[in-house]
Amino acid sequence: MQSLHKGAILVLSGPSGAGKSTIINAASKEIGEYYFSISTTTRAPREGEINGREYFFVTKESFEEDIKAGNFLEYAKVHGNYYGTSLKPVRQALDEEKLVIFDIDIQGHRLVRAKLNHITTSAFITPPTLQALETRLRARLTDDESVIIQRIQNAKEEILAVGEYDFTIINDAIETAAEEFITIAKAARLKQSEEDEAKFIKKWLG
Ligand code: ADP
Ligand code: 5GP
Repeated sequence: MQSLHKGAILVLSGPSGAGKSTIINAASKEIGEYYFSISTTTRAPREGEINGREYFFVTKESFEEDIKAGNFLEYAKVHGNYYGTSLKPVRQALDEEKLVIFDIDIQGHRLVRAKLNHITTSAFITPPTLQALETRLRARLTDDESVIIQRIQNAKEEILAVGEYDFTIINDAIETAAEEFITIAKAARLKQSEEDEAKFIKKWLG
């Protein structure tokens, strides 16, 4: 059967250290073809991060030029650094009818909803408790103490936005969280845009 869809968006948010990257990696073979949106950021790369893989790492000046040029679908300041989603690759992936996955913060989610609500599904990912989050951030060994404190503070505010999302994934056991993510990704693909709906009705009526 011919698909009604022309690409869909799945937004994932949740505190830094919630396990978003771990879940995407664990589920990646099961969710079919997708495009993971690589964000642009002014934060410094962490040990092991590669430019163009986790993020495009740029200077503040270059980021601000891109803002002026209108190159971002959305952008926000998180933990004192800029993070943004470039419009062009997302548009292309949607045209290719792919599922586009965003790992963006709660401000980014609101902006994507404002622009592309009709094709967007969202999930908030969190460890079971604040304490568990703190343990994981420390175990990851990628951030120093002041950064960890700032991320925990931020998490206390981010959790208040949990109700804005279609789904919540409690990342306790990774296998369960990955299973839930796979179900949500499949549902996200099936989300029907209003435009598709109109075309379908027209065709159905003959
Ligand atoms: P995020 O991408 O949301 O910032 P990560 O995927 O980097 O988070 O996960 C943060 C840390 O927590 C990593 O060290 C990861 O191995 C660990 N982690 C992820 N999921 C679990 C889990 N279910 N139980 C225990 N540790 C986990
Ligand atoms: P980190 O520094 O841990 O990689 O990411 C910090 C936060 O920035 C996370 O909450 C992550 O979801 C968010 N983030 C990453 N990329 C983007 C983006 O392009 N836009 C927005 N709004 N947030 C982002």
